[in-house]
Amino acid sequence: MAAKWNLPPSGDMDKATGIYYQNMNMKELAERRKTNDVLIVPIGSTETHGPGQALGEDTFLVTRMAEEVARVTGCTVAQPLWYGAHPYHHLGMPGTIVIPDDVFIAYIEAMIAGFWNAGFRKQILLNGHGQEWVIPGAIHNFTKKYQVPAVLTEVHWWYATGGNLKTKEYGGVFDTPLYHACEVECSYLLAVAPEMVKTENLVDVEITGSYIKAEGNLAGPGDQTPPPLRYWMHEGLVRNYEAQMYPEGNLGPSTRASAEKARPGVESVLDYLEKLVTDIMEAFPPGQLPPLDEFTQRRGEAIDAVMKEPGTKGWRHLYTICWPP
Ligand SMILES: [Zn+2]
Repeated sequence: MAAKWNLPPSGDMDKATGIYYQNMNMKELAERRKTNDVLIVPIGSTETHGPGQALGEDTFLVTRMAEEVARVTGCTVAQPLWYGAHPYHHLGMPGTIVIPDDVFIAYIEAMIAGFWNAGFRKQILLNGHGQEWVIPGAIHNFTKKYQVPAVLTEVHWWYATGGNLKTKEYGGVFDTPLYHACEVECSYLLAVAPEMVKTENLVDVEITGSYIKAEGNLAGPGDQTPPPLRYWMHEGLVRNYEAQMYPEGNLGPSTRASAEKARPGVESVLDYLEKLVTDIMEAFPPGQLPPLDEFTQRRGEAIDAVMKEPGTKGWRHLYTICWPP
């Protein structure tokens, strides 16, 4: 039996293959929405990943994953957001482009509004970078501002790997936990975009650890049942101010990375995203959304008009309710 998922995916970002929103025309997009109106929006970053891994690693991880899910489910993928939000401990790393949290949230909110206005009112924000606590702010800002039916969710791939980020100590395949540009993350990049890794350049960097006792306190980014303190909830408990402590740009032994170690986890992410797209489409077939009278207390002609199919008689654009998004 042929494998369900193409790993590594072939890469569709500049191809007219019916995967990417921006690579299609209005006629094709209108046809697409009649069969599947879920849009995956990859949200990445531009940041140093050391001497052997491309600075777009976080973005390529999620564009390649999204492409595979679109190929199998028939949903559509937006071209990615290349620049992300960051925790304090990333600040100042050469190569890393840090967008302020409020600007990042506002930008994503405007993207959500634009895609909603285009008729893609079910959006999966597929996150590839350590900014999973920032993105829901855009979802809630959008829904509070417009109060129109929509299906919006973030998926952070680390949390959809089905337990496959585990170290050997916990029955997994990795020697070290997921940090950044490390054995784990580099393995995932090798599985989906191997041309973005120059293995001969990879270096191992020793993790210097925490100030506070880690056990029972600190959750690693990939922990499935983490202790209370996730990495984005604190600063000053861990020696992780990267511009000072990790000038190499990667943490941990990235030379131990391999595509084989990551493949089961990548397949878990893809299986999950396929399930999510399928479950959303089952709950809300093309053109359907959560019922207006259950989702919002807004009523009247102004709401009815924006809910119509874009461009049809009586339709009005979303920004008639509110500008700016
Ligand atoms: Zn990364």
